[in-house]
Amino acid sequence: MEQRARQGRIGRRAILCGIAGSVGATFLVACSGKHSGNATAIGTNNPFATVPAGKQVAVAATTTQIQDFVANVGGNRVTIAGILKPNVDPHDYEPTVADANAIAKADIVFVHGIGLDSWMDKTIKGASVKAPVVTTTDGITVLKGDENEPDGDPHLWFDPTLVQTMVKNIASGLAKVDPANASAYHTNATSYTDQLTQLDGQLKGIFAPVPKEQRKLVTNHDAFHYLAQRYDLTIVGAVIPSLSDTAEPSAKQVNDLIDTIKKEHVKAIFAESSANPKVARQVAQETGIRIIDTLYGDTLGEPGSAGDTYLKMMVYDATTIANGLK
Ligand SMILES: [Zn+2]
Repeated sequence: MEQRARQGRIGRRAILCGIAGSVGATFLVACSGKHSGNATAIGTNNPFATVPAGKQVAVAATTTQIQDFVANVGGNRVTIAGILKPNVDPHDYEPTVADANAIAKADIVFVHGIGLDSWMDKTIKGASVKAPVVTTTDGITVLKGDENEPDGDPHLWFDPTLVQTMVKNIASGLAKVDPANASAYHTNATSYTDQLTQLDGQLKGIFAPVPKEQRKLVTNHDAFHYLAQRYDLTIVGAVIPSLSDTAEPSAKQVNDLIDTIKKEHVKAIFAESSANPKVARQVAQETGIRIIDTLYGDTLGEPGSAGDTYLKMMVYDATTIANGLK
């Protein structure tokens, strides 16, 4: 009886099944469960063309984090068309006609790569994009992927020291399309890189008071491995045991997680505000532990929220997790 009830709850997760598996194919909204890959090779090798002097650089950027990095590096020298909006799941997005138009008009396009925004590939080809497409995570060594994210774990923004490479890639891309302002982009990138170094120190300070034996995380989807690696946390389980939040846990996986939570004396389940926390809530209820479902995971928050910039999002998440583990 209990088993059946659990399966019923899990079944609702299917509503979030999306296009993680539809890379380079069509904009499927059905649940394919497989990732057909080639995600790092988004778009084309279009040449970098110089924008006319005095004209702002028209940027199109996929994730909300990249949009924030571009804003910091580009300042008022760029205009940004953001493809993903706050609280929209990047694993599960279908580009619109407006997105295709923005990409077609852009002087440069910034994408995340590592499979996260591989739904752009089709749009870029369909829109006959002339602009160069820069994969901002190029040069970063990524953690291993899984069957849903075979190119690697894309959630590397949870380590601010890796974001520094993304910022560098953004600055060099902008400098190539707008060489007249190259030094300004590099100055801004250096300044933001310093803020990322400060953020890293701040996050270490936030986690420092949490005793080692209490640093056990159970998350909703498997997005926090880079945070765990950088700040010495242990991820003992995830409600959705996948790097993509479009996967669905089996009844056995949920039961195993419940056993692990009890055995490891886990204090809380941490979920993202943008992902469906339904199964996480049920697991929390059955184990009697807290669920904290306000974290910013794969997207920044709405303007005015505690996570409306990358720097704020990271401090909010770290503080919330550290408090939840105490
Ligand atoms: Zn994710």
